[in-house]
Amino acid sequence: MTHLQKIPLYNFFIYSILNLFIASIAVFLFVGLITPFWAVLFLFFLLSSFLVFYLSRKKLISRNTNTIDYQEERLNILENSLVKKNKILEYLPLKQKKSSFLVKLSQELIELEDIEDIFDFLVSAVNKLFPDFTFVSLYEFNKKNHSLELIRSLKKKDMAIKEKQGCEIERWMMRQNSSVLIEDIRKDFRFDSSQIDGFLQRKSLSFLASPLSVGEDFFGIIRIECEKANFFSYDDLRSLSNICDLGAVVLERANLIKRVRELAITDSLTALPLRNYFIEKAKTELNRAREGGTSAGLAMFDIDDFKKINDTHGHMVGDLVLKKFAKILKGVTEDPRITVCRYGGEEFMVLLADTDKEESLKIAESIRKKALDSTVLYRRNKVKFTISGGLVIYPDGKKDFDKIFSVADKMMYQAKNKGKNRICSSL
Ligand code: GH3
Ligand code: MG
Ligand code: MG
Repeated sequence: MTHLQKIPLYNFFIYSILNLFIASIAVFLFVGLITPFWAVLFLFFLLSSFLVFYLSRKKLISRNTNTIDYQEERLNILENSLVKKNKILEYLPLKQKKSSFLVKLSQELIELEDIEDIFDFLVSAVNKLFPDFTFVSLYEFNKKNHSLELIRSLKKKDMAIKEKQGCEIERWMMRQNSSVLIEDIRKDFRFDSSQIDGFLQRKSLSFLASPLSVGEDFFGIIRIECEKANFFSYDDLRSLSNICDLGAVVLERANLIKRVRELAITDSLTALPLRNYFIEKAKTELNRAREGGTSAGLAMFDIDDFKKINDTHGHMVGDLVLKKFAKILKGVTEDPRITVCRYGGEEFMVLLADTDKEESLKIAESIRKKALDSTVLYRRNKVKFTISGGLVIYPDGKKDFDKIFSVADKMMYQAKNKGKNRICSSL
């Protein structure tokens, strides 16, 4: 900014008046007494008066010129700030639209309790917020093997995302636990081309990615790709991070709800489902078998002479035996048709959905055999145990659903009466 020279206006008047006064005296003296000395003095005063007047005038003009420059400069500054403010005003409705979308989204998201529903919702929300994406992918964090798994993807190009376990960028994000905006993948110094092969193959040049994490809990990563370079802004990254932060909180809550529900239906000693959960599940599956014209098996198992095990080795060993048998039962549930439960005390039940007579008997026999072959080790003691089982097939001519449990129980006592360590069935 130019600093204007400020000349006081009164200077001009003082000089002018003073000079005029002196000039008037000189004229008076000139008229009264004309000598060469007075004539020179008069001329001197006259000239100095003109000089002072001239200089003062020049300074005044310069002052005025400076004032115009100053005003022009101020005008330019004001114009610039007006342009900036107009831009903000233009952007404001868009920002408001985005904020109200995020508010609506959070209200809907907070209602969800199922983890799969939350993942679906997050992907569709990202789709709505960034309609010009090329690929959207959601990676879930697998705590057991500490890896990422691609569980959801949306694409606008006929090309699949090959990196099903994520690539170096996602692993980098996992370590840093931070969002990433890559404006042009070819120019990003953090990743070399071998690490980003997949992106280059499907011609994705820019992308945004944000972790789904709350504190120490890490649930996964959402990534949005675009084939244009420099497509996303930092404001876009903030929006994605907001969605992910909210999603992570809702996921954490859903996990807690799931855990509490599981605990409510799980036996604390054996970690098997409890009786009530099993009965509900059995009702559904047995009805399905009756209506669908298929068959299902229901087996009841009881540990033989369990009281004797408790009395001989102590309750702690009895507990170990219960745990051992529960482990055998958990093993058979790898078959998705099979559901098991601790029915009470040392009694267990097995539901065999979509299973016929022969297969049900085969599975029940294999369980009995596994129990027979197993050993519980306690203070160098090898404790052996056997089980007896009762098997019933449904519907198999039976109409009364409620009686099926008592038939299985009856068959189990038949096995006990026949000498234990065997399966009796109502086949
Ligand atoms: P049977 O061969 O006829 O089935 O005889 P049993 O001794 O196995 O059956 P009984 O009903 O006489 O005894 C069952 C015992 O199981 C009695 C009870 O103290 C014990 N029991 C029940 N629940 C538990 C448990 O959670 N832990 C331990 N250690 N014992 C338990
Ligand atoms: Mg019993
Ligand atoms: Mg028993």
